[in-house]
Parts: sequence; structure tokens; C-alpha cells
Amino acid sequence: MKLTMRGCRGSIASPGPDTVRYGGNTTCLQVETAAGDTLIIDAGTGIRQLGLELMARTPVRCAIFITHTHWDHIQGLPFFSPLFVSGSEVRICGSFDPVYQKSLAEILSQQMQYCFFPVSDTELKGSISYETLHEGQVLHYGSATVTTTVMSHPVFDYGYRIDADGRSLFFTGDFEPPVNIYDPEDEEYEDYAAGMAAQRAVLIEALRGVDTLVIDAQYTEAEYRPAKIGWGHGTYHTAIALAEEAGIPRVLLTHHDPMRTDDALDLIHAALLAERAGRGGPEVIMAREGLCVEI
Ligand SMILES: [Zn+2]
Ligand SMILES: [Zn+2]
Repeated sequence: MKLTMRGCRGSIASPGPDTVRYGGNTTCLQVETAAGDTLIIDAGTGIRQLGLELMARTPVRCAIFITHTHWDHIQGLPFFSPLFVSGSEVRICGSFDPVYQKSLAEILSQQMQYCFFPVSDTELKGSISYETLHEGQVLHYGSATVTTTVMSHPVFDYGYRIDADGRSLFFTGDFEPPVNIYDPEDEEYEDYAAGMAAQRAVLIEALRGVDTLVIDAQYTEAEYRPAKIGWGHGTYHTAIALAEEAGIPRVLLTHHDPMRTDDALDLIHAALLAERAGRGGPEVIMAREGLCVEI
């Protein structure tokens, strides 16, 4: 299967001369299987251009998997052209929001209310179906198998594993590895640590046999501690550490901070490669918009 990064920016679209090379569009991944099935993960602003390109061969048939409904992962959906065209078949999958008690369809429909967007979802001409996914669910779409894993983030968030053509890809969505909220001298510390370890074991199991990990790596260690703890994102080092622990041969670092310039990303990437030289472990790639990799 082939992965194309359509949007690598976290939090908010960040166009401009300083983000041209890595791209300013927010999260969107396109996966094409050898049999021609199209799977899309997240509908950040990167999905707009993808929609235009898919329209070159109509009718469009695809499945969109939403990791979570933060703006930067859904904001492009109302601009996804196939939704407006009769004959398109779009299956949109994601979780129920247990905190706000809302389905994915309800939340996505809200961002197309007239106070946010000039066209209501009732005016879309394509055939759109919504599917609520459960934790650990295994779903088949054409030649691909998709499995959900709940990730650590301030809102319910799925990581998606896609298996197809004998290969396997995992995208974390937004992900902050849990941090113990207690001090070692607190009596709750040990229990909390045990819970974290159990959660980590579930994640490592979900990553077993994965060939490529695409993972949230928004911050440097210096940015993360202590200012950004609890904001829901990982660091370059926590991302690579997860790939290493799970024995994954290739890791794509994504969800670039909107403040991060192309030059800054180049410098961070070079520093990571220098630090890891001769150590083995995963191939470390800085994701950029348009990057296409054979999984
Ligand atoms: Zn995000
Ligand atoms: Zn998020």
C-alpha cells in the first residue's frame, strides 16, 4: 500500500514562506491499496486538495477515518469536493464522544451549521454513511483491514492501524504518552504508574508487526517540560522511543507545531539523525506534505 501525507501541520493551518517545504495544511493521510481502495485518515485542511485530485476519476469511493474531532482534524471536511457530487460514496468512521454524548455525525454536522459554514450538510449530494467505531474494532474496507486503539489525548482519540497487501501502517492521531500526575512520595503514585504501564502494554501489542508508524511529535523536550504537559502531544524523543520499543523499522514524525519553520524542522531532523547515528533502530523521517512512501 502507498501512503501520501496530505497535511502534516498540527493545531492550525500555517501557510507562508516559512512552511512551504513541509507544508501548512493540517492532518490528512491518504492510503491507497494495491487493489485501488482509498482510505483517508483525518480531514484536516489537507483533505481539500486531495478531494480535488480524487475528482479526476469519478465516481469517488473512499472511507475517511477520523482520529478525533479537534478542529485541525476535521476542518477540511466541508471542502472535500466528493461530498458535493452525486455518485460519490463516502464512508466516514470514528468514535462516539462519551463526554459530550454526541455521535461523530452530530459533531461533523455542527461544523456545517450556518453560523460556521454557508452550506448545510443536508445539501450534500454524495452518498455519505457514518459509522461509529468501538475500541479494538476490526473493520474491513475493500482490501484493507482497519483496527482502532484508544490513544491518550484530552478528547476521545483513535489510533488507526491499516493492514493491506501484507503490510501494516499505524497512525496515532494526536498522542501524548501519559505522564504520572503524582509525585513519587504520593501514595497514589504506584497505582497510577501501574495503570500507565498496563496502557503502554496494550499500545505495544497494537503496534506488533507494524512496518511504518506515523506519530504526533509536536514538541522538543525543552518545549514540552513543563509548559506543554497535558496539552495532548508528544515529543520527537517520545515518538522515536515508542517506535523503538515496538520494534517498528520506520517512523514518520508529524503534527508539526504551527510555529515551526521549515529550517527549524531541518535542524531538528539533522540533530535527531546525528544523535542516533550508529545506534540502529528505526529510520526516522520528518513528514512533509506530499511525501509518498511505499509501506
Ligand atoms: Zn491535532
Ligand atoms: Zn487533538
